Amino acid sequence: MRPAAASKPPASKHRSMAAGLTLQFLLSVDHLGQLPDSRAEVAVIGRSNVGKSSLVNALAGRRDLARVSKTPGRTQLLNCFDLGGGATLVDCPGYGYAVASKSARSAWQARTEQYLRERPQLAMVLALVDGEVGPTPLDLDMLDWLRGHAIAHAVIATKHDKVASSVRPRRRRELAAACRLAGSDVVWVSAAKGTGLDRLRGLVALWVAIDAD
Ligand code: GDP
Repeated sequence: MRPAAASKPPASKHRSMAAGLTLQFLLSVDHLGQLPDSRAEVAVIGRSNVGKSSLVNALAGRRDLARVSKTPGRTQLLNCFDLGGGATLVDCPGYGYAVASKSARSAWQARTEQYLRERPQLAMVLALVDGEVGPTPLDLDMLDWLRGHAIAHAVIATKHDKVASSVRPRRRRELAAACRLAGSDVVWVSAAKGTGLDRLRGLVALWVAIDAD
């Protein structure tokens, strides 16, 4: 397994992504055969309410892009966004919906897990964890599962602005330790305040080599 996102992207890529990734909604699919042709992909996963849609919107610098992933009929699908340069961002269904029946939940879980395990183009999984509440048992199960299948992933802690500045150093240490990572391996972001977004955009660009010739 590759380590999480500690390295800093080159300055040129970092700058070119600062205004927002050029994300365009492509399509929603319910099995792997329908996925668009893609050179490289990043997947975004997290439990419902972790801030996944807000982050996808913020990465694109748009307010409503990821609304599509929340429209009825699409919440259980893999929602694909063109990143440019032949790369795709795949917004995976939120896990842990209390309202879903057990059978429905396992159907979309199986689909997402199959995608994460079998897609050769998948370069990196952004595993979102709520920075305010820390990793839930479900999040830790998911991280164990990713590790167990040697799937490259980076832990992204959301809602940085919701953590009081006085407790941030301790919270950073605690959240990383709970995820069995070093503090510097967790990327902290705030979709609301913009914290960490340029860095994450640069990392995404690096992972899918958007600027590659
Ligand atoms: P999703 O279900 O994972 O797609 O989560 P959403 O993006 O819909 O966010 C869930 C809730 O968290 C919403 O009320 C958002 O406004 C809130 N939220 C998401 N990101 C942030 C953030 O960076 N800061 C704050 N303060 N709230 C956030």
